[in-house]
Amino acid sequence: MAQCTILVTTLPGPLNLIGGEFRPSASGGELPVISPIDGGRFAAIADSGPEDIAAAIVAARTAFDGAWGGFSAAERGRLMLRLALRLEAEAEALARLETRDNGKPIAQSRADMAALVRYFEYYGGAADKLHGEVIPFLNGYDVMSLREPHGVTGHIIPWNYPVQIFGRSVGAALAMGNATVTKPAEDACLSILRIGELAGEVGFPPGAINIVTGRGEVAGKALAEHPGVDFISFTGSPEVGVQIQIAAARNHIPCTLELGGKSPQIVFEDADLDAALPVIVNAIVQNGGQTCSAGSRVLIQRGIWDRLTGLLADRFRAVQARASGEDAVLGPLISARQRARVQRYMDGAGAPLIARGGIAPDVPPGGFYIAPALFGPVDPSSPLAQEEVFGPVLAAIPFDDEAEAIAIANGTEYGLVAGIWTRDGDRQARMARAMRCGQVYINGYGAGGGIELPFGGVRKSGHGREKGFVALHEFSRLKTIIHRFG
Ligand code: NAD
Repeated sequence: MAQCTILVTTLPGPLNLIGGEFRPSASGGELPVISPIDGGRFAAIADSGPEDIAAAIVAARTAFDGAWGGFSAAERGRLMLRLALRLEAEAEALARLETRDNGKPIAQSRADMAALVRYFEYYGGAADKLHGEVIPFLNGYDVMSLREPHGVTGHIIPWNYPVQIFGRSVGAALAMGNATVTKPAEDACLSILRIGELAGEVGFPPGAINIVTGRGEVAGKALAEHPGVDFISFTGSPEVGVQIQIAAARNHIPCTLELGGKSPQIVFEDADLDAALPVIVNAIVQNGGQTCSAGSRVLIQRGIWDRLTGLLADRFRAVQARASGEDAVLGPLISARQRARVQRYMDGAGAPLIARGGIAPDVPPGGFYIAPALFGPVDPSSPLAQEEVFGPVLAAIPFDDEAEAIAIANGTEYGLVAGIWTRDGDRQARMARAMRCGQVYINGYGAGGGIELPFGGVRKSGHGREKGFVALHEFSRLKTIIHRFG
């Protein structure tokens, strides 16, 4: 069996994990792995096609019908906890690999690994805790509901938080007893291959966790459309999410879609600005703004517009993009393409630039760095206020009163997260209920945080809930057994 460790460190070789073995794609094709830190190629991944996806689905089905399907809930949970311990022991090496592959600051990669460990702890602990019910019915009947796995689950993952999203979706699926096939993003998947290797080492039976790399429109599409898949968990762009939902409909299977966002942070005049300031900046600078729940709009009540934009400007000017070492808050973006996209939004902002950060002079010249920017006042109907930029660009928008704040906050096609900053308890409650989105923070904001907290969107931000205990409902299905006795 080829070793993935060698693949990603010394001998770049493009391999998939299928049925417990690392093997090349059927075509032998490969894709380069570029580090965003310096733009240099340092490894390769398999450029897989429909045959590889089909092989992974057969391996998953075999595991589901065989060894993995024979595990009790408690045994699955114990194995997941064993993997959590192993991941914790390997966390620093994994974080370094992730930073090289993805470009994110090492502190962010460490946070991602800590979350990954927590997902396997949390879902490992939960594996035997989702009960069915006994339902009162007619005399002479026992009726019970039972939670069952879907079978083979497909997981299509983006590049921005690969390991966190693997942990939340594959972790929940495994806890419920599904056998999984993951198609990570072509721009960042090495750490996921390594996690798959570690899972085999701690005792996951072959085929419970399969990982097939490749291009979205080829390998991802093949996974989404394959009739052998029973459930699809997709995290990525709304455009691709539509195609996933159509493919799922054709196969008559359920799916969860975790898509983009244009999340607002709403700051009222009575807010604690000292507390809000660093949180607002972090919510758009974290991971280079490449976060689905990035706080990319800040709605500011007019009476504190000058003061808050002034304070934000000071903070923005102090942020420098760096080469993702210990001192980095902002690293490079994922690719030259992504940087060009963000630059286009900055060039076409159509609003005054309030402040711009910088790029440290010693970053490698080939890396994909961009200085963060704060614009305002931004017209709420303009592209900068309506579209997901996926970069460190914050749109500041003034408002007069609660009603206007609600109208602007809910006035995009997205609905993922909102942040509300006010000391008024009644207003906190009113605003939280008025937000058309999946998660609301009051006097705080945790972009991407909280593995225990149900997470997901409405409308263009997707549907279904991942994270937290409730995700186990998504990754299982309910059967009702009606037993008539005489
Ligand atoms: P993307 O949709 O381009 O790619 C996501 C995944 O889908 C990748 O693995 C890709 O290879 C695959 N893919 C691409 N085309 C496909 C196709 N035709 N069929 C099947 N699979 C295909 O998104 P991205 O650019 O990698 O990620 C950024 C997007 O993801 C942003 O919109 C962001 O907001 C969103 N996102 C959402 C969440 C969330 O939890 N809501 C989390 C992270 C990222």
